[in-house]
Amino acid sequence: MAPTTETMKGLVYNGVGKIAIEERPVPTIKKPADAVVKMVYSTICGSDLHILKGDVPSVPPGRVLGHEGVGIVTATGSNVSRFAPGDAVLVGCITVCGSCAHCRRGMHSNCTADDNDGGWVLGNAIDGTQAQYVRIPHADNSLHRVPAASSSSSAAHLDDEDHLKALVMLSDTLPTGLECGALNSRVTPGSSVAIVGAGPVGLAALLTAQLYSPSFVVVVDLDAERLAVARSMGAQHTAKPDEAVALVQRLTEGRGCDAVMEVVGVPQTFALCQELVAAGGVIANVGVHGEKVDLHLEKLWSKNIAITTRLVDTVTTPMLLKLFAAGKLPAEKLITHTFPFSDIMTAYDTFRAASKTKALKVIIDFEQDVPGAAGVRGARL
Ligand SMILES: [Zn+2]
Ligand SMILES: [Zn+2]
Repeated sequence: MAPTTETMKGLVYNGVGKIAIEERPVPTIKKPADAVVKMVYSTICGSDLHILKGDVPSVPPGRVLGHEGVGIVTATGSNVSRFAPGDAVLVGCITVCGSCAHCRRGMHSNCTADDNDGGWVLGNAIDGTQAQYVRIPHADNSLHRVPAASSSSSAAHLDDEDHLKALVMLSDTLPTGLECGALNSRVTPGSSVAIVGAGPVGLAALLTAQLYSPSFVVVVDLDAERLAVARSMGAQHTAKPDEAVALVQRLTEGRGCDAVMEVVGVPQTFALCQELVAAGGVIANVGVHGEKVDLHLEKLWSKNIAITTRLVDTVTTPMLLKLFAAGKLPAEKLITHTFPFSDIMTAYDTFRAASKTKALKVIIDFEQDVPGAAGVRGARL
């Protein structure tokens, strides 16, 4: 067959502070376990902003960014057995070889696949999902089938487009909030919970912590708008950082919170978490830290606390998909804006200026510019 030169558009990182939409060849199957996915929706992550700042040196100039989204499989390698062209899929933010020592204990985030094509590689070590097409290595383990909107569930009020958009929250945001936040801080029925940081992942931690029936959740943030959003998503109490210690002391008769989540990633918020944690409690670090922090062992050594860290493994994604399909996970609440892919630069500006724009997650729509494309999305479900 004659070589084809099909091209697509992708959002390319060109060094610190520089991104642009560029023309690229459409990716093809390189290895038998690969699939190629035509993106329908993607989104921008806080990690993408870290890349733009130069905080993630593993990302070379020329990389297509993005590690989240939903799309339609267009091609599969000979070893792919669970998916076929035409399938609607959720792209997990972590690529999972499934057979290395770390994958076999469920720690997909630290996958050591032979060719370094496992773990957080999309939009990092390999081209990602902020493009019209993406190649997904280890597709059988790294993609998830999109559940149909159930007519018997409360998700039924979402039309197909909103259903697919909301699913994008299950690529990274919700499993990160659940695994790195709610599970790692060991929220159990009756727990007192503090979440420091009310960005999309902090709010995802709030939504998923409630699956475990804590006695209350306090959300802490500088931004009054985000605190209002947190209350609308189920937080019983909210506080600015300088009010948080007094509030938690009052609510817990001086004990502190059992489960404390750091979802910002700066030294001040990690310090605050150390003041909020109760004896016997857990501080779960979720934030991405770019500099060292102080650990006050002189105060904490005798308090029987634990500190956990984690990069999301996406092991909870299948469970979250079931909850979402059953109408028990209001993922759509995390979405504030939608932009056509051609306007992705505005999407980045909007996401970056969140305190001004009130942005939580911004959806990138690859079909909005294409006449008559809307029907394709629904038909595949
Ligand atoms: Zn991310
Ligand atoms: Zn692996």
